[in-house]
Amino acid sequence: LVALEDVHLSFGQNEVLKGIDLQVSKGEAVSIIGPSGSGKSTILRCINGLLTPQSGKISVGETRVDQLKTEAEKIALRKRIGIVFQQFNLFPHLTVLDNITIAPIKILGTPKAEAERHARELLERVHLSAKVNAYPGELSGGQQQRVAIGRALAMRPELVLFDEVTSALDPETVGEVLAVIRELVQEGMTSILVTHEMRFAEEISDKVIFTENGRIVEQGPPDYLFHKADNPRIRSFVGGLS
Ligand code: ATP
Ligand code: MG
Repeated sequence: LVALEDVHLSFGQNEVLKGIDLQVSKGEAVSIIGPSGSGKSTILRCINGLLTPQSGKISVGETRVDQLKTEAEKIALRKRIGIVFQQFNLFPHLTVLDNITIAPIKILGTPKAEAERHARELLERVHLSAKVNAYPGELSGGQQQRVAIGRALAMRPELVLFDEVTSALDPETVGEVLAVIRELVQEGMTSILVTHEMRFAEEISDKVIFTENGRIVEQGPPDYLFHKADNPRIRSFVGGLS
């Protein structure tokens, strides 16, 4: 479903991605781990067309993302890709229900009743049915992040990108957000996750990528990455966080 081939991207003189090769099949969960500044978020932003690499190929399904020219083409791509960030960025003046239905109604043209029916189903999936009429300010961080996940799913994406979605949360609410992601992955939602939650990555991933300084240093099944790879950088990184 997703393929990157020798992707290079620079900000001015600073080459941030130095030849990234990555493949994600439909239904797979792939985790990206690695030190701060190694290019993890940049990879996600290339996949959804927010950044265009200087060279290399990126495809999502049949779409050559690196060749999209117009803003309209990029918006069409982004409708197909859910993204959840560290900061949930919910609309504070809208209820939970309206936060979830606004994009399907305004962008996809889904009839309101249908969008609300789907939103209630999604709220059940993220275990927040009781909060349908609450405002974001009345929710904990973990609850807000679960609304943000529901909002991403409301667009019926082919793929969801998660960028350190638990990093800003109180420790006691991290688990409930990971539980929701775990269920999505088990249901077969194609997912790419940048995460510092090593145990979680080990448990749910089909494949783990270790990035450092704009390169993929190792990739493989979690058992390999976390236990067998004899690269000392990975050993100390994984050891220091798990
Ligand atoms: P973290 O774990 O801290 O989120 P990361 O692996 O996600 O790090 P990126 O955000 O992808 O790292 O950044 C990789 C490099 O690109 C960093 O050196 C960063 O300073 C640089 N960078 C990112 N975005 C921009 C930008 N818009 N303009 C200039 N440089 C940028
Ligand atoms: Mg990042």
